[in-house]
Amino acid sequence: MTQYLDTIVVGGGAMGSAAAYELARRGIEVALFERFTPGHRQGASHGASRNFNLSYPDPVYLRMLAEALPAWRELEAETGTRLLEQVGIVNHGHLPEFDRVARSLPGFGFEAEVLDAVEAGRRWPGIRFDGRVLHTPQAGRLDADAAVAAFQNAARAQGADVHHLARVTSIRILGDELARIEVQRTDARGEPLGEPEAYESRRLVVTLGAWTTRLLGRPLVLPHLTVTQEQPAHFAERDGGASIWPGFNHAPRPDDASYGYWRSPVYGMQTPGEGIKAGWHGSGPITDPDARTFTSEPRQLAALRRYVREWLPGADPDAFTEISCTYTTTRDGNFVIDRVGPVAVGAGFSGHGFKFTPVVGRYLADLTEGVRAPAQFSLRAERRTPEPSRS
Ligand SMILES: Cc1cc2nc3c(=O)[nH]c(=O)nc-3n(C[C@H](O)[C@H](O)[C@H](O)COP(=O)(O)OP(=O)(O)OC[C@H]3O[C@@H](n4cnc5c(N)ncnc54)[C@H](O)[C@@H]3O)c2cc1C
Repeated sequence: MTQYLDTIVVGGGAMGSAAAYELARRGIEVALFERFTPGHRQGASHGASRNFNLSYPDPVYLRMLAEALPAWRELEAETGTRLLEQVGIVNHGHLPEFDRVARSLPGFGFEAEVLDAVEAGRRWPGIRFDGRVLHTPQAGRLDADAAVAAFQNAARAQGADVHHLARVTSIRILGDELARIEVQRTDARGEPLGEPEAYESRRLVVTLGAWTTRLLGRPLVLPHLTVTQEQPAHFAERDGGASIWPGFNHAPRPDDASYGYWRSPVYGMQTPGEGIKAGWHGSGPITDPDARTFTSEPRQLAALRRYVREWLPGADPDAFTEISCTYTTTRDGNFVIDRVGPVAVGAGFSGHGFKFTPVVGRYLADLTEGVRAPAQFSLRAERRTPEPSRS
């Protein structure tokens, strides 16, 4: 027997959980279906650290950040949690937009401090700086695991049903006001339990991360989404965690051979109790999210350790813990946030979506009520491959 609900969200990572929370607090009947267990490590939203980086040249993202900061604090207050530590972020290396970003940040309520490498090195001796440094003190670190749990708990508290171990096996669009999904309940190993269930709804929010094209690629025409297995790592702090580190972004100098081994710009931050996280951005092997190795590509890992040896004197390149995670990347690095008929889709967060999560949740809920998201996130947006971005 088919069950009818007003709004369904499929995929309970950061974006789906934020959308369910936003819909529930508007008094909308909503159910969230997530395939794995709470806190799973299969997608893109796990782990205790993400950069809340403010240094974007694009005013669309800066406006989203200006909305996201108070929204994160509001969620913390509502759930009694601590999600965002404003430890600051330092950006250095080859940054063609350096001056434009430094000039535009104050217009969005954010401080921007320009330091030379000596002064920055004096403040943060764990990092070797590469030319001028853009320091943004209001930037910081988000706890991804705690944030996803907080959104789901807040959604439940507002009346949403949150289902785990509920795998959506098909999505169909039946009309402008009607969508249908099939759900298979499973055990923690993914083994099916009971008969499949059918649900129909007036609105369907699809936030399936690396699995988007697999389940939504037929009902909808989607931009090309590349799924990669990313492999940052935590490196032990040489001072045992005694000092506080800012987050960091470091871009290579294209005309300098000594950066030849770099795979991409480097991002990183301190994860309390785990070490200094460092990673290449969007350069992992293309992967099938259902057939992942969860192991690092050895040459990339060796190059990352060399980076730590050369540029992070406060971290030990020989004492590390590997991390595995998926990116779902669009050609231009811009997100996909749009609606067709009853379906609102949020996908392609391209390795830099977490900081914006509360605002993406708001955009997705707005879409179910007919309010469009910024045009560059549209399904029809022309997407050209730009310069490599940052996390
Ligand atoms: C290593 C790494 C570092 C990052 N660093 C940063 C950073 O510093 N700053 C930043 O802002 N962003 C960062 N990001 C990006 C950010 O984490 C992602 O953009 C964000 O987590 C994407 O969330 P999502 O909800 O789209 O995807 P996901 O979290 O992958 O959510 C998709 C969900 O759908 C579920 N699902 C899949 N199939 C089904 C099904 N059939 N039925 C039901 N559910 C299903 C999955 O289990 C999953 O929970 C990083 C990402 C990675 C991987």
